[in-house]
Amino acid sequence: MKKAELIFVPQTSKGHLIPILEFAKRLVDHDDWISITVAFVKSPSDSFTDAYIESVKTSKLDRFEFIDVSQQEEHHSLVVDHHSQSIKYHVDALMETHMPLLKDFVTEISSSRSDLDTFTGLVFDLLFVPLVDIAHQFNIPSYIFLTANAGFLSLLFHLTTQHDDTWNSPDFKRSYPDELSSGFINPVPFNVLPSALFDKDNGYPWFMMTAQKFKAVKGIMVNTFEELEPYAISGFSDRGSPPVYPVGPVLDINCKPYTELDLAQCKKVMKWLDEQPRSSVIFLCFGSFGHFLAPQVKEIALGLEQSGYRFLWSLRVQSLSPRQPSRNDGSGCVHYIEDMLPEGFMERIQGKGIMIHGWAPQVKILAHEAIGGFVSHCGWNSILESLWFGVPVVTWPMYAEQQLNAFKMVKELGLAIELRLDYEELNVSNVVTANEIKKAVKQVMDDGSEVRKKAKEMAEIARKAIVNGGSSFLSIQRFIEDMIGEN
Ligand code: UDP
Repeated sequence: MKKAELIFVPQTSKGHLIPILEFAKRLVDHDDWISITVAFVKSPSDSFTDAYIESVKTSKLDRFEFIDVSQQEEHHSLVVDHHSQSIKYHVDALMETHMPLLKDFVTEISSSRSDLDTFTGLVFDLLFVPLVDIAHQFNIPSYIFLTANAGFLSLLFHLTTQHDDTWNSPDFKRSYPDELSSGFINPVPFNVLPSALFDKDNGYPWFMMTAQKFKAVKGIMVNTFEELEPYAISGFSDRGSPPVYPVGPVLDINCKPYTELDLAQCKKVMKWLDEQPRSSVIFLCFGSFGHFLAPQVKEIALGLEQSGYRFLWSLRVQSLSPRQPSRNDGSGCVHYIEDMLPEGFMERIQGKGIMIHGWAPQVKILAHEAIGGFVSHCGWNSILESLWFGVPVVTWPMYAEQQLNAFKMVKELGLAIELRLDYEELNVSNVVTANEIKKAVKQVMDDGSEVRKKAKEMAEIARKAIVNGGSSFLSIQRFIEDMIGEN
C-alpha cells in the first residue's frame, strides 16, 4: 500500500487544536501507512500548545513530526493573546501574523514533495482556508477539518447559492430570508445566524471567501456524527459539495492538565464534587472567550441562588483576570470580582455553591457524576463534551456560530433547555434576568425531564459512533480510501 504523509495546519487555540490533533491521532491508529507533519505557529505566551504537543508526541512519537513555523524565520511581532477578550481581535491577529508564515511554509513544503511512492495531502483549519490556493498551485490535494458542525457547513454552502441577490441588495441585513432552512429541519430565524454575516465590510466577505474555498477542497471532515445531524449530512450529497466525512465526536476525554489550570483550585473543586449527590450540581462555563459585565454577574448569582440547586460556576468578567482589581475608585479602595456579586452572596452559598475564577477543568467536571446540567455558551466542543457525558445543556450562546448551535440543540434535537438562542456577548441592553436563569436551571435539573433522558441516550449513540464499525469509524475509513485510492 502507498504511504501517505498528511501535513496538518491547525490553529493553536484550544477549541481548534485539540480536536484536529485528536483526529490526527485517530487517523494514524486507523492506518499504519499514514504519518503526520503538524505545522503550527505558536505565540510566545502560549504554554498550552507546547504542553499539548508534547503529550501527542509522547503517545505517537514515531508517526508525528511537529514544526513550529515561527521558529523557522526571523519574526518579531508574533504575539496572539489567547486570553484576549475579543474573538475578532484574535482572528484578525491570526490572519496578520500566522497566515503569511504558513503560506511561506506550505509553499516550501509543497514544492519539495515529489516522491511518487508517497501521497501528500494538506489538512487545515477553517481559518486557514486561503492555503487551498497554494495546494492547487502544486497539485496537492487539500482537506479541511471543521471544528464546527454540519449545520454550520450547510449555512456556508447555502451562502454561495444566494450571493448575488444578497450582495446587491440595498438593505443588506433584510435581504436574508427571515427563515433559512437549508441543512436544518426547522426554519432558522436570522437572529440566530452568526452576527458577523451582517457585517457587509468584513464579516460577510470573509464568509463568502471561506464558502468558496470550502467548495474547492477534496474533502471536509466534520466534528459531528451521522446520528446527531442526519438531516444536514444527507443534504450535502445533493449540492455538488466535496465529500463530507462526519468523524466525531473527536474529544480529548483524558483531559490533559492545562497549563493555565490552577491545580490547587482544581483539586478543591473535584473534592467538593465528590461530596455532592449524583446529578445534583448545575455547572456553568462559557468557553475560551465568554465574559460578563457586572449587572449580568449579579443576575446569574441571584438566579442560581433562587433556583435552590447546588452549582459550580466558572466566572470570567470583562477586563479582569481573577485576582486583578475590578476597579480602583481613587479612594484607595480596591474592588474584586466578589464585589460584583450580590451582598452576602458568598456567605449564603457556603456549602451549596462553588466558584472557579479562570480556566476550569471542564471535561473532568462534565465527567463527574455529581453534574446534572450544564449552562453553556454552546461552543461546539462544549456541546460534544456534554453529549459525551450525557449532561443536558441550558443554552446561553455568546459569539461565533454558537447561536446556531443553540438553535440546533433546542429546536432540532431536544437536547437542551432554551435560556437564550440569540444572546450576544457584552451587549449591555441584553441582560438575562435572575428569574429566567432560575426557571431554566429548574427545568434542566428536574430529575424526570425529557431533556435529561435524551442526553443520556445520545451519549450512548455518540460512544458507539467512534468504535470499530460505528458511523464515524467507517467514515474515517472511507476518507482514507478516497484519499489514497484517488492518487
Ligand atoms: N474549556 C475548558 N475550561 C474553560 C473553558 C473552556 O476546559 O474554562 C475547554 C472546553 O472543554 C472545550 C474548549 O475549551 O474543549 C472550548 O471549546 P468550545 O468549542 O466549546 O468553545 P470556544 O472556547 O472555542 O468558543
